[in-house]
Formats: sequence, C-alpha cells, structure tokens
Amino acid sequence: MRPLVFAGNWKMNIGPVEAREYLRAFFSAGEIPRERSVWFFPPAVSIEAVAQGIAGHRNVLVGAQDIYWEPKGAFTGAISGPLATQAGARLTLIGHSERRHVFGETDQETGKKIKAALAADLQPVLCVGETLTQREAGETLAVVTRQLEAAFAGGWGGTKGRVTIAYEPVWAIGTGRNATPKDAADVHRSIRGWLKTHATSAAAFLILYGGSVNLKNAAELLAEPELDGVLVGGASLDPRGWAELVRTAVA
Ligand code: PEP
Repeated sequence: MRPLVFAGNWKMNIGPVEAREYLRAFFSAGEIPRERSVWFFPPAVSIEAVAQGIAGHRNVLVGAQDIYWEPKGAFTGAISGPLATQAGARLTLIGHSERRHVFGETDQETGKKIKAALAADLQPVLCVGETLTQREAGETLAVVTRQLEAAFAGGWGGTKGRVTIAYEPVWAIGTGRNATPKDAADVHRSIRGWLKTHATSAAAFLILYGGSVNLKNAAELLAEPELDGVLVGGASLDPRGWAELVRTAVA
C-alpha cells in the first residue's frame, strides 16, 4: 500500500458535542491502515474537541478550514493561525472554493494566508481549481497556475515537507460530478511540474484531489498514482461511511 491522505472537510457542520460522538463512532469502526493518514477539518468551534478526541491516534490530525492573515486583533469573527494552533490545529485549508466563490476571497488574500499559516507552524493545504466556464474555455491550467503563483508569491517560509495542494475543480464540489481519474491526474502532473520548478524549499509536496469523492468512486480515483489522497466534503460527514472509505479504498 502506498501512503495516502484522507482529508475530511466538515464545512459548517458538526459542533463540538457532535464531534465527540462522531470520533467515537469513527474510531470504533476499526483500525486505520498504517499507511493512511486522516485529517479532519471541522468548523473552528470544534477544533479543540477534535484535537482531544484524536489524541493518541497515530496519523490523525486536525486542521482549521480557514485562517485570517493577522495573528491577532480587532477582526471580529475571524480566527488566526496562532489561535488555531492553540486549539490543537496542525493544518489549515487555504483558498477553499467556498472561501473564494461564496466569500469573495482573492488570490492575493490566499497568498497572505499561506504566509500566515507557515509563520504559525500550520501546514497549509492550498485548494486550487477552475470553474466550469473556465474549464470549458480551456483555461484550467492557466487558472491553477495563477492560483499557485499568487499563493506562494510571499515565498515558501520554512516549509520543510509540509505543503499540500488540493486540486478541487469548482464544478465538482458538492455536485455529484467528479473529474475522471485521468483528468485529475493531468492537472496533478502540471501542479507537480510547477512545484518542481518554483518551490524554493526542499519540501515534499502532496497533491490531493477533491470534488464529489465518495465510497463508490474513491478507489478508482486513488488507483491513479498522481493522487496522493483525497479531500472530501459530503462523504466525510457520516463517521461510519468515512471510516469505511478510509479503510477500504484500494489503491
Ligand atoms: C470539499 O468541500 O472540499 C469537497 C470536495 O466537497 P464534496 O466532497 O462534498 O464535493
């Protein structure tokens, strides 16, 4: 078995009380295979409960869904890298499609957030991906490259093996339509090529695919060696289904 990451983005679901129940059900569903890592991205209010619930479980980490770039101050409603770290987060999503397209986050803002994450010792998971219109116009690689350039415009900090990119085509998120393994692999190959040319650190990069991954299509997607894992929204919300996906997706 090759090492794989299974990242679950709970979005605005599962509060702290539910998170404790979720983790009990998830861990009671069976052992996580040695080569697999599981990352949970709960809403900010549940990070601490998840950090406590995963303590002692190997290869399981918790992350924030988003951070603001300032470390502290008068920014009502936001959480910073140091605050997320204090709650137990080790990672953070940056530039998730819903941050970009629902909340209007710009490429430049993702750059500030990447810098802030690295400064706070949080492993960033940068989400990139094109809309359907951009895909149909043949702009997928141009969009993804622009997003990568903006995100790392501030440099690579002390990334030491700690940068993950999640390729998530916007048209595939929450829609039940997923990219084919070949389509995903083609974009992953380009992202890897870009990273090899531009990264100024010795970091080992992971590239995950996200967009309507579920129990039925995960194995087929993960059979594609370009995928180092998956970032999953809807199908990570049920602890037993998620545990089954993590344990059984054959790669
Ligand atoms: C996501 O939230 O990153 C995601 C990929 O969602 P879904 O799996 O529901 O498409």
